[in-house]
Amino acid sequence: MRVKDLGEFGLIGRLVKHLQVEDDDVVVAFGDDCSCVKTKEGLLLFTGDAQVEDRHFIRRLTPSQDLGWKLVSVNVSDVVACGGKPKWGFISVAFPQDLPVEYAEGIYRGISQASREYGMSVIGGNTASSDKIVLDLFLTGKTDRFVSRSSAEAGEFLLLSGHTGLARAGLELLLMEKKEYLPFEKKLINAFLRPVARLDLSDRLSRYAGSSIDISDGLVADLYHLSEASGVKLSLTRNKLPVSEELAEFCRREGKDVYDYLLYGGEDYQIAFTVKGENLKHFGDCYPIGKVERGSGVFLDGERLEKKGFTHL
Ligand code: MG
Ligand code: MG
Repeated sequence: MRVKDLGEFGLIGRLVKHLQVEDDDVVVAFGDDCSCVKTKEGLLLFTGDAQVEDRHFIRRLTPSQDLGWKLVSVNVSDVVACGGKPKWGFISVAFPQDLPVEYAEGIYRGISQASREYGMSVIGGNTASSDKIVLDLFLTGKTDRFVSRSSAEAGEFLLLSGHTGLARAGLELLLMEKKEYLPFEKKLINAFLRPVARLDLSDRLSRYAGSSIDISDGLVADLYHLSEASGVKLSLTRNKLPVSEELAEFCRREGKDVYDYLLYGGEDYQIAFTVKGENLKHFGDCYPIGKVERGSGVFLDGERLEKKGFTHL
């Protein structure tokens, strides 16, 4: 059997069995957006995410600074999903021998820019060579309370922090390699190249959210992760789902179904989370898109949604 036969999540399940954790200071090991350990000064979060050339990005179509920015943002997004704030990063890179130095430096400029924006520092690293660019950031964060994807409860409301589907449309536009892009197209491309992690939410999530996950694989795919981890059913209402103007315009022009993008597009880095009714008032800037119920699966207007999405293998 090959790795690809198992798929990303099948492989993870099979591998982590070899790493049984028996340590009382470990609050959360595998299976959530971050791992979490108890320290004297509070809870420490660990996460890691990579950007691999020709898997996550195509060098020719990706400005180097954007790549550095994105590497940091996708990691910060996982810390935010657990109700935390990013602190210290450690970067491992592998570069092809013939990579122009300017490109490598641009990546680090993007990392620096994002680190400043998110109030964190990258404090060490390791370099190797490889046929393709591989960037792997290990990030730590702090939180007062760990918000898990496995703690949603029936009766809670399901909220979404912003628009989804934009990044997939942006990637498709980028791949068209047009000479000129219209302003709305540039916005979609930017959503793909330079996602912004929702750090503005982390305090409120750690205080009021029952459960939370970031949307990296697609709204429905990640809601399935939350639903399965929590053992609950998620019921969405179609006319509550936020539709971005730019995405609607793109779908109109390209003859695409806007809901296909919004539900199944990946790399949005918005946050889906659940809250009790009395805490809805703290999230007036987010969209209540559905409810948590007893049962299993993810439903839209009563119909079970197909479990598909982006995987990294
Ligand atoms: Mg995540
Ligand atoms: Mg991630």
